[in-house]
Amino acid sequence: MGKEFNAFAMAQRQFDAVAEKLQLDEGIRQLLRSPLREYHFLVPVRMDDGSVQVFKGFRVQHNDARGPAKGGIRFHPQETVDTVRALATWMTWKCAVVDIPLGGGKGGVICDPHNLSQREQEGLCRGWVRQIARNIGPLQDVPAPDVMTNPQHMVWIMDEYEKIAGGHYPGLITGKPVEVGGSLGRTEATGFGVIYTVREALKRMGLDMAGIRASIQGFGNVAQYAAKLLIELGGKVVSVSCWDNDDHTAYTFRKLDGIDIDYLVSITDRFGTIDKAKAREAKYEVLPAEAWIEQDVEILIPAALENQVNGDNVNKIGKNVKIVAEGANGPTTPEADAVLKQRGIFVIPDFLCNAGGVTCSYFEQVQCNQNFFWPKEEVLERLDQKMTRAFHAVADLAEETGEYMRDAAYMIAIQRVAIACHLRGWA
Ligand code: NAD
Repeated sequence: MGKEFNAFAMAQRQFDAVAEKLQLDEGIRQLLRSPLREYHFLVPVRMDDGSVQVFKGFRVQHNDARGPAKGGIRFHPQETVDTVRALATWMTWKCAVVDIPLGGGKGGVICDPHNLSQREQEGLCRGWVRQIARNIGPLQDVPAPDVMTNPQHMVWIMDEYEKIAGGHYPGLITGKPVEVGGSLGRTEATGFGVIYTVREALKRMGLDMAGIRASIQGFGNVAQYAAKLLIELGGKVVSVSCWDNDDHTAYTFRKLDGIDIDYLVSITDRFGTIDKAKAREAKYEVLPAEAWIEQDVEILIPAALENQVNGDNVNKIGKNVKIVAEGANGPTTPEADAVLKQRGIFVIPDFLCNAGGVTCSYFEQVQCNQNFFWPKEEVLERLDQKMTRAFHAVADLAEETGEYMRDAAYMIAIQRVAIACHLRGWA
């Protein structure tokens, strides 16, 4: 299954199905099912031993009819241009579904930062932006962190861009540390956003957060903050999982009476890998990778990578699961989707569920542009309002039309982008 999985083919398949439902014209279908522009380039980096290593980089701008392209940069050894294309496409729908004036983009570098020193990572970030500086910018395309990239990487990219452009351009990139134009609340935004939508879904189901059990795949940025807020609101996280780079495998960490979020974070490295020995000492069960999906919980939150809920494992989902909240991008394959739909599990689709990050990135840009920064409470309050409004618009449409949540979210997003393209006279 893993080998043939192609995220972009999946993104196009999802788009085609909704384009058909919306009876879109052929021209607009062609325009929206593929990226408007993409850049492939090589990034030479001088390594610590004096040799030069050449990395392959990408930037894909799927659509910018509603505003500058927006999307993260991933560092990943298995990065492919099709994954970047899919993620750029989902960014277009994500910005549209939460109704922020941005388009969709994504970048990637084929590399494993675990094997790079800080100096080499800095060289890679600076080299990346030197190759793409003329095609990105605050009014063109605004990158941000994603898997295995962090605020420090963003500062190096901004700093190199500013050297090239000869001025201050804090709106070039988001996810920066607050000391250099970042927004308070950005670190929490995606994970918190996931839980704002879960909270609203529970309300619609007439369920209380108190006593709700969740299992989360991943323990990086999104997963940690989703777990934190879910626990703060009275829920319980019984398991999380992570990739272990030493063993080249993933593990699930379970504590049936609920994880201690602060302790687990304290024994987790910056890549989201939990120390197994310390976890065992603290009486966490260390289970195989797949165990996260089999837990007896009400909520599943895939928050690691794409293709994680698929035809091979969807039937292992426990009978009490009511909500699948997609923290990750593209975690559920169409085969698995069909099963979730048939079982009546309420799916909060990725580009709605994890839109908190880009929404806060948009707030970061707004604050940079006005050179005036809001307190954290204000950022999180605005974020909650945006996510809650977007969630209910999708849930209302799903309820009114009987459409699956993912399809309803796509219908709203695609229509908004199609209208912007029509108004501009593109199609
Ligand atoms: P991260 O690098 O901080 O964390 C990823 C986590 O997943 C780590 O704990 C890692 O060990 C774990 N992991 C990797 N492979 C795994 C596997 N096979 N099984 C179990 N765990 C595995 O990344 P992140 O920023 O938390 O992003 C997670 C997902 O959320 C990605 O799909 C990303 O595109 C998406 N996302 C992130 C943001 C954001 O703001 N960070 C926004 C929107 C969407």
